[in-house]
Amino acid sequence: MKHMKTQGFIFIGRIACLDFIDTAALGSPARTEALRDFGDLLTWLYEEHLIAGNERRGAWQRWNTGPVARRAFGRALVLRKTLREVVERILEHRSVPKPAIAAISNVLGKMTGRWALAKTRTGFVLEFRLRFDHPDQLLGPIAESACDLLCRRDWLRLKRCANPTCGLYFYDTTRNHRRRWCSMKACGNRMKVAAFHRRQRAARPGLTS
Ligand SMILES: [Zn+2]
Repeated sequence: MKHMKTQGFIFIGRIACLDFIDTAALGSPARTEALRDFGDLLTWLYEEHLIAGNERRGAWQRWNTGPVARRAFGRALVLRKTLREVVERILEHRSVPKPAIAAISNVLGKMTGRWALAKTRTGFVLEFRLRFDHPDQLLGPIAESACDLLCRRDWLRLKRCANPTCGLYFYDTTRNHRRRWCSMKACGNRMKVAAFHRRQRAARPGLTS
């Protein structure tokens, strides 16, 4: 079934709003657009653990290819662009624009649900259980993640991969805050090999490549 496909999304550190931005091609030749339609959005939300399997199935059965879903998908892409602008502003040490704050608030305002007390293995937890009566509400958990980033996270740990052809965003949780790559395997090694070859060429100026 189309909606059960796996896209091979990239999840770095499970900060949902950053992973969401990273689904875009980000203007890099190395990246392709990961969200092509409403079904992709549902799959991504599920794989990011923002909606449960039954919520994903329910949303697909109710809305899948209808105009409501298409509009919601369009709004998801607009939200993604807004979140990227917010992150770029933070990286440039500039203030976050008011329309972006309003846009995130607008998504939050559409969330509905109820509080519930749940038992865990070690005690209890207070939970807010979301209801999805409209596909726009699916974006709520992404906006919530953006709020978490803005309200509680250390902005100095927010980074863009140092590989200029990559452009993925991530949150650096290393103790010394020195992480530079989205992943050592994908970009770190590649950049280190490139730097090594540059040094080799510099040491032997007669060589060209
Ligand atoms: Zn990278």
